[in-house]
Amino acid sequence: MRTIKGIGVSAGRVLGPSRRMPPPVPEPAADARFGPDSTVDGEKERLRDAAEAVQQDLRHRAATASGDSKAVLEATAMMATDPMLLKAAGKHINQGTSAERAIWEAGMEVAAMLQGLGGYMAERTQDVLDVRARIVARLDGLPAPGIPDSEVPFILTAEELAPADTATLDPKKIIGLVTSGGGPQSHTAILARSLGLPAVVGALSADSIADGAEVFLDGTAGTVVVNPGVAEREAAQKYAARVSLPPFNGTGATSDGYRVPLLANVGSGKDAEKAAAAGAEGVGLLRTEFCFLGRDTEPSHEEQVQAYGSVFAAFPGRKVVVRTLDAGADKPLPFLTDTSEPNPALGVRGFRTDRAFPGVLERQLEAIAEAAGAHGADVWVMAPMISTAEEAADFAVMCTAAGLAVPGVMIEVPAAAVMSEAILRRVRFASLGTNDLTQYTMAADRQLGTLAALNDPWQPAVLQLISRTVDGGRRAGQASGDGGAGRPVGVCGEAAADPALAVVLAGMGVTTLSMTPRALATVGAVLASVTIEEARELAARALAAATATEARTLVRSRLPVLEQLGL
Ligand code: PEP
Ligand code: MG
Repeated sequence: MRTIKGIGVSAGRVLGPSRRMPPPVPEPAADARFGPDSTVDGEKERLRDAAEAVQQDLRHRAATASGDSKAVLEATAMMATDPMLLKAAGKHINQGTSAERAIWEAGMEVAAMLQGLGGYMAERTQDVLDVRARIVARLDGLPAPGIPDSEVPFILTAEELAPADTATLDPKKIIGLVTSGGGPQSHTAILARSLGLPAVVGALSADSIADGAEVFLDGTAGTVVVNPGVAEREAAQKYAARVSLPPFNGTGATSDGYRVPLLANVGSGKDAEKAAAAGAEGVGLLRTEFCFLGRDTEPSHEEQVQAYGSVFAAFPGRKVVVRTLDAGADKPLPFLTDTSEPNPALGVRGFRTDRAFPGVLERQLEAIAEAAGAHGADVWVMAPMISTAEEAADFAVMCTAAGLAVPGVMIEVPAAAVMSEAILRRVRFASLGTNDLTQYTMAADRQLGTLAALNDPWQPAVLQLISRTVDGGRRAGQASGDGGAGRPVGVCGEAAADPALAVVLAGMGVTTLSMTPRALATVGAVLASVTIEEARELAARALAAATATEARTLVRSRLPVLEQLGL
């Protein structure tokens, strides 16, 4: 028995045989030339045959896939015989380069070109590199990269999954995922969560698990046990027999009826419709930049009114919190970001872009106001990356000028958390962006898997800043004569989707929790398992903990419902 530690990114405990992804296709030697027994035409034909075979294979896989996976596979299949790719490879073959090296070079050139175009095109880069590896494997008679086949359900172990692999992943065959690379925001992690597959990423020694070895995977603890014993077998059986949850009933509350509305994070009208169908009580975060990612130019007034209106239409009479464009760092928008900044996460992003590109925010607020006027949603508006009380005041003035009555801010910079009372005297509400608040508090890039342990909202420093923000909201509300009520402080980062942490947040006095719609049912059920007094006590204990592990372990041990739900 051997235990490997990683990062649990999707809850659940499963046991089964492991199957390994074939190793990445090795890069052909830089000076690889075709031999005297081949010719330029012969080498080009060899390449075309391999590309067509890869295309057929991908089309075959597309035929058995459905939904998004089908579309991804079909697009990748088309890329395999893309004329631009093959033409670029042909040029190298004309110089005497082998077909393997020629397609390798061509793939690199096309990928660089797509990357340079940005946006949607840049997202296709991985597809080109994936197709290139498949063609080289075919030319060299190596096993095709990608998910292995198996008669029995298995736990997939890999370095990291490529988009084409994740798209064809069959949740009936694959019962869990373990990768040696990746972090909480990696492709594998996002896919596992959306499929509800237990997963552990960043398990550095996962590469040493022999193909076929029996393994136990605990996606909550972030551990993988090779050759598991009786205890692990029992844990997996218990998980298989877990209570299955009914859908969220549409009312977030503790067992004694203390209301904590559960809202959804959305990026489009389509998302909003899905969220409403999942019982969300409103939208706690509309990421408006998601409506326009990859755009080189500012979207027109009409486009914006349409995009926001489609979200408002899904929630008539309900609260919809619109976040103004959060461009920069992990969400570049070419018309608002300077890509040459040395440290984009610390650069001109979020509200700060208003100084560099004046006018865009005003026009966005006008479009939000017009869309709000045309629908019956209760529209609140907030600015991302606010750092000072002056910025909050400036934003409030802009909202008033646009006719938007409820201005707010995101608290995601530690300075703003510390100054929350002053900030909340100037705006009507705040929403804690715990993803960024954690990365800035812990000085740990949220996109780096190697820093995942630091990038944990259970870190006591983060919990203390959240608590301080809630207190600031309470004091600001009292000072501004809101009838004694505090200024609302919600949470819309990933922390709100962790059911144990959600209880702690409610206990701290957070007024709403906003999350991916998939998390509504579990958060709702766990919140409903405690009274507000119990939640407050858990919050106090978490705040007194010295480490993230201590806080999480202590709180989880007091929430038996997590075990029953297999969380
Ligand atoms: C956050 O930072 O927690 C947040 C909700 O915003 P985003 O993840 O879009 O940066
Ligand atoms: Mg953020």
